[in-house]
Amino acid sequence: MNNEQNKIPQATAKRLPLYYRFINNLHHQGKLRVSSKELSDAVKVDSATIRRDFSYFGALGKKGYGYNVEYLLSFFRKTLDQDEVTKVALIGVGNLGTAFLHYNFMKNNNTKIEMAFDADPNKVGSEIGGVPVYHVDDLEDYLQNTAVAILTVPSTEAQGITERLVEAGVSGILNFTPARITVPDHIRVHHIDLSVELQSLVYFLKHYPLEEEEG
Ligand code: ATP
Repeated sequence: MNNEQNKIPQATAKRLPLYYRFINNLHHQGKLRVSSKELSDAVKVDSATIRRDFSYFGALGKKGYGYNVEYLLSFFRKTLDQDEVTKVALIGVGNLGTAFLHYNFMKNNNTKIEMAFDADPNKVGSEIGGVPVYHVDDLEDYLQNTAVAILTVPSTEAQGITERLVEAGVSGILNFTPARITVPDHIRVHHIDLSVELQSLVYFLKHYPLEEEEG
């Protein structure tokens, strides 16, 4: 992460991977430029927001021309550290954890689950989706230079494992357990509770139905 990025508002930074994925696809298709309208339709962000976001990237679209795909791509790659693979560890090789081990994160971004940990002796020593599964007791021995961890253990285990991860030098945790985990200020936790998300979608469908499209 370089200092330039400190100037980008967090809301904009959150949209970066979304922009990156689309621009990368355009680049693969051999497109040289893209308009904010095209971008807006594809990523579902209004074009005023896109123009504001892109001005932070130093990308000033030209009227009738749009944005230069090559420029945007190189900016995103640099900003998102796409030239360097980020190593990720996964803790808890249950149903969800196993699915993640089979999922190819490299397809869309440069992150790779390099190792997994579990407490179940039947899983330890196996390889799932090409990723070795180690015993969770050995966490500290393997977690070197690993900045990011995915947490898919039962919620009762989440806090204890988190403390060990922090102690081992992990600075970002993607928490898929329903547990709210407590971490020191310098650790970033992103929480994805799938059941809550699903319930919230059902609630919104019921109480805030979207207008039907006309015609
Ligand atoms: P999921 O919640 O992913 O659907 P599941 O229902 O198959 O998984 P859980 O009981 O949630 O199983 O456990 C998830 C995984 O976490 C299991 O593989 C289990 O062996 C593992 N696990 C349990 N306790 C620990 C621990 N302390 N450290 C590491 N892994 C653990």
